[in-house]
Amino acid sequence: MKNIGVLGGGQLARMMAQAGRPLGLDFMFLCPDQNACAASLGKHLNAPYDDPVAHKELTEWADVVTYEFENVPLQVVESLEQQVALHPSSSALAVARDRLSEKNCFRSLDIPTAEFAPVNTLEELTAVMKGMGLPAILKTRTQGYDGKGQAVLKKETDLPEAWEQLGKRPCIVESKVAFQREVSVIAVRDQKGETFFYPITENHHREGILRLSINRLNDPVQDQANATIRKILEDFNYVGVLALELFQVEDQLFANEFAPRVHNTGHWTIEGAQTSQFENHLRAVCGLPLGSSQSENPAAMVNLISRLPDENQIRAVPGATPHFYGKAEKPKRKVGHITLTGDDCTMEEFDKRLAALLQMAGESQLAGQKFLDTALKPQFP
Ligand code: AMP
Repeated sequence: MKNIGVLGGGQLARMMAQAGRPLGLDFMFLCPDQNACAASLGKHLNAPYDDPVAHKELTEWADVVTYEFENVPLQVVESLEQQVALHPSSSALAVARDRLSEKNCFRSLDIPTAEFAPVNTLEELTAVMKGMGLPAILKTRTQGYDGKGQAVLKKETDLPEAWEQLGKRPCIVESKVAFQREVSVIAVRDQKGETFFYPITENHHREGILRLSINRLNDPVQDQANATIRKILEDFNYVGVLALELFQVEDQLFANEFAPRVHNTGHWTIEGAQTSQFENHLRAVCGLPLGSSQSENPAAMVNLISRLPDENQIRAVPGATPHFYGKAEKPKRKVGHITLTGDDCTMEEFDKRLAALLQMAGESQLAGQKFLDTALKPQFP
């Protein structure tokens, strides 16, 4: 395996290629965006996802095809899968791209979730809310990301406006979970079924967008998270990296959603784990042995949203590595991230460095918090 075809040409494809080139892999990206930021790392097929000429070129060249996000048309993935090795399979994608199928999948695997119900009309929503109670969250079944396609329902009079706002489309409504923290677990499974788990990541969002992720070593919920994601991996006979987002309430985890791909909450693994999520995804889809997913030290990732800080300022912080995606700055767009590793410092010093990076990223509220002091001893009420 040498030639990797990727559906999508954004930052996840770019970081995959950055991890794959040292392994001797070459890349071709099918991406309709002419400014695809992965393009400089391989051949860019600048065509719509369903373009048959591009499919011919991709399938003739690629030894294996993968994808970087869920919103690739499902039919395209199903059709390519008939012509070339493709991982993760279209069956995992089909479930992950529809919030209702995803929640039903969790239910069928006995994985706890928030209470949920499908709603197709405002009348159905009104009826469902009588049983479920407020607060709740209305989400479009497909195409939602970074807080888009979601509305919080606090009182009964919010329902008509929320229904309008989301475009009167098929939705699910979920009860709002009063979580103590949001975590994710990332795992990788190879073609023989060998599975490695990364240390869980604690995640902090603002305005529905991920701002900060921190790895949590030896966390009390790690085994629970591993057992949960393993059920999904085995159910799909999954190959590649899978990310599962969870809400923690006391010592119980509730599944929110999964992503059949490398994930923003795993970017800290680039410098913070022995093998990054990007490299392990490629190893899995190529049939290579997996690399260790261990991490011995605190690591964090700060997203750079809308604008990039000065690179010199970032590099002046020991243990910090800027990753700029080569994308134009634009409000609410992810244009880069910073990884921070703490191999050489105390927890107090790590918190200080993290606070400096959060300030540079414009996250002054998060910068005022202490993270590592609580890291190894999560507080359950
Ligand atoms: P999602 O697109 O489902 O990942 O949702 C984005 C963010 O909204 C999550 O990371 C949570 O912070 C919040 N959220 C989503 N669903 C729920 C829920 N059922 N209860 C509480 N918060 C939620």
